[in-house]
Amino acid sequence: MTSGGGRPPSLLAAAAVVAGLVVAAGACGATAPARDATAPTEKATTPPSPAPSTSPAASLPPPTSAPTVPAPPAAPTTTTPPYAPPSPAVAPAPDGGPGTFGPTAGGALQGKVVAVDPGHNGGNFAAPSVINAPIFNGRSSEACDTTGTETDGGYTEATFNWLVAQGVAADLRAQGATVVLTRTSNTGVGPCVTQRAAIANTAHADAAVSIHADGGPAGGRGFAILEPVADGPNDAIIGASRTLGDDLRNSFLAGTGEPVSSYDGVDGIQARGDLGGTNLSTVPKVFIECANMRNAADAALVVSPAWQQQAAAAITAGLVAFLTGG
Ligand SMILES: [Zn+2]
Repeated sequence: MTSGGGRPPSLLAAAAVVAGLVVAAGACGATAPARDATAPTEKATTPPSPAPSTSPAASLPPPTSAPTVPAPPAAPTTTTPPYAPPSPAVAPAPDGGPGTFGPTAGGALQGKVVAVDPGHNGGNFAAPSVINAPIFNGRSSEACDTTGTETDGGYTEATFNWLVAQGVAADLRAQGATVVLTRTSNTGVGPCVTQRAAIANTAHADAAVSIHADGGPAGGRGFAILEPVADGPNDAIIGASRTLGDDLRNSFLAGTGEPVSSYDGVDGIQARGDLGGTNLSTVPKVFIECANMRNAADAALVVSPAWQQQAAAAITAGLVAFLTGG
């Protein structure tokens, strides 16, 4: 469901130029699943060289203003960089780091704080020494961050995550929420998964979602919610995270038409104990793998601004259901 009236003008359709995104084949997220042998193997990817050349968006609205970028979407391409992503919905922090953005209107989420984590980062490709640094994720060692995956046509997961997160942030703010973003540009590096968890914890977020797309087997498609497994620091949020996961699964299924994953989890839900982002969370948190970027049918969706907007609206609807008890 979508409450609070109409969506803000299109955030996922306008003009900035990011030239020459160069990405490596890779996989989203972290390593082995904790409890389900059917879960996909995800691993860190060593970034290639040379580094991608990027240009920041030309103009940015102030953080508290409603977005005003109603330009029609350009036809998506899966093959030819540079792709032209939309202008950000939020002004980036000076270093592209985390930022907090207040409501743009009243609504059902007034007083709520939501942490939105766009997985990976566009600059990760150029900083292997930073993102490959080992961190302790609450259970074991994993990389600080990874590059994420990409479509066969070279459209990066970092970009997809960023654009969907922008839409979610705008939608939530338009319904009264304060949004904490773990990164405020798609040209930076990291932050480490430990920091991504800490940002939501420090904000005492009422809910947190980490937005990703998967790099699964080419023959598999669909979305999956990755839920935490109790490990000590996150013990208190397991039940609430499962409720959040159910709400997101239901809203994403209804709002996008995307099927639940054919290869990851059961009915779109997968418990994972190997993700620092949920192992270290003290607020209700799940990941969503919106689609399989390695599957041709899903790849055609993830590059589409219209589908990105649908995905954002569906994620927002799930968060609203969780936060309002609906
Ligand atoms: Zn990912």
